Amino acid sequence: MEFDYDLFVIGGGSGGVRAARMAAGYGARVGVAEEFRFGGTCVVRGCVPKKLMVYASAFSELFEDAEGYGWQVGPRSFDWSRFIAAKDAEIARLEAIYARNLDLAGCELHRCRAEVTGPHTVRLASHGHEVRARHILIATGGTPFVPDIPGAHHAITSNEIFDLPHLPARVAVVGGGYIACEFAGILNGLGARVTQLYRGEQILRGFDDDVRGHVAGLMRAKGIDLRTETDVARIDRAEDGLVLTLEDGARLAVDCVLYATGRVPNTAGLGLEKAGVALGPRGEVLVDRWSQTNVPSIFAVGDVTDRLALTPVAIREGAAFARTVFGGEPTAADHSDVPTAVFTQPEIGTVGLTEAEARREAEVEIYRSTFRPMFHTLSGRDERMLMKMVVRKSDRRVLGVHIVGHAAAEMIQLAGVAVKMGATKEDFDRTVAVHPTAAEELVTMRDPVA
Ligand SMILES: Cc1cc2nc3c(=O)[nH]c(=O)nc-3n(C[C@H](O)[C@H](O)[C@H](O)COP(=O)(O)OP(=O)(O)OC[C@H]3O[C@@H](n4cnc5c(N)ncnc54)[C@H](O)[C@@H]3O)c2cc1C
Repeated sequence: MEFDYDLFVIGGGSGGVRAARMAAGYGARVGVAEEFRFGGTCVVRGCVPKKLMVYASAFSELFEDAEGYGWQVGPRSFDWSRFIAAKDAEIARLEAIYARNLDLAGCELHRCRAEVTGPHTVRLASHGHEVRARHILIATGGTPFVPDIPGAHHAITSNEIFDLPHLPARVAVVGGGYIACEFAGILNGLGARVTQLYRGEQILRGFDDDVRGHVAGLMRAKGIDLRTETDVARIDRAEDGLVLTLEDGARLAVDCVLYATGRVPNTAGLGLEKAGVALGPRGEVLVDRWSQTNVPSIFAVGDVTDRLALTPVAIREGAAFARTVFGGEPTAADHSDVPTAVFTQPEIGTVGLTEAEARREAEVEIYRSTFRPMFHTLSGRDERMLMKMVVRKSDRRVLGVHIVGHAAAEMIQLAGVAVKMGATKEDFDRTVAVHPTAAEELVTMRDPVA
């Protein structure tokens, strides 16, 4: 068979773009199809615009905190349209950079949907004909999942929240995962009245239990009406907005309902079944350590594989794929000890095992400290930081670090290096503190609490 491309990538997001550029760098003829906007979820409607929103929303507290430091801050108001326009300009700039970098690397860009028609063939929606590729990479990401309840069509998802025409005054956020918690904080900080509804016992399933409790407490203290063990039965349009009927019969009037109840791999209608590619129960593409599917010419990286849905992980998987297939250097993506952050307010930084996970594997010691960060001594805000370390007793190795507080995301990137290197508690302790900081607590926690 004659091939038009050595590699055809479906999806121009974090994983697809990295794989395409690297493969082209190894000399491969590469085509990339993107049906929406280059840059993908992270750039267009994920990490980047979300973080800009977190910055925007944090000002409301900073204005209050400034008074404790002697500042008089006059009347303030938030202009949603101005913010959205500035955010859109930045996203457009980044999108153009992604497309340009692909172009400069020598990749051929197709701004259209693509579907798989066989182990080596892809149909492009723009001209309807097939292209032939030696290898196909599925990098189509994920998509928000909304449960099928009456009136679900009234709800929006994270896809729409970035483009609302104005800031809703009353919002219900449904879900307890990191995206739900982040948007509850953002909307609350921007001035909306936020009710967060989660059917489980505690938000942020999968994170360390101390972290979950600490963050839930702080979210409530900031005015978010966080209700756990609560679910929505139906959503109806009312004269002045929407009415949610909860499963216990209670009703809640809001202007906007944001569903953040998880994401599913984006494989619907992609033609993978026709090509014989095995999918898992959530529609995820099943792959081995080298991101190869059961069809040898077809690979998949990123959220569509439902491994660890994070941008840097998708990028690493894309790079490992390119190195394996085009660089002659078989490389498995490494999913262990991945540091990550949640941009709640304050934020979470975490790496390694939670206490509960570690206890299932080994005998552990727990070091934990909660304290009022120096910044809040004068601001007067009653907000405490949490730092926690999970240490294996047998060899003193630090298995997990969990931080809640200002700059936790920045701190965990570096703590992650130590954990990845296999640092022991004594390695942390041998490191001299940086004073005065909050991070110094990481090297000064003396006695285990459990
Ligand atoms: C609200 C939100 C906040 C997030 N925050 C963070 C964060 O703070 N940190 C973090 O690390 N991660 C975050 N993530 C997750 C992160 O965005 C994803 O893990 C990452 O984008 C996955 O990259 P990907 O390449 O797998 O898929 P994507 O980036 O989703 O790219 C897939 C691309 O494929 C395109 N596509 C799909 N089907 C087709 C088709 N048939 N033909 C052509 N094109 C197609 C899509 O349009 C899309 O552009 C967030 C996600 C969301 C939704």
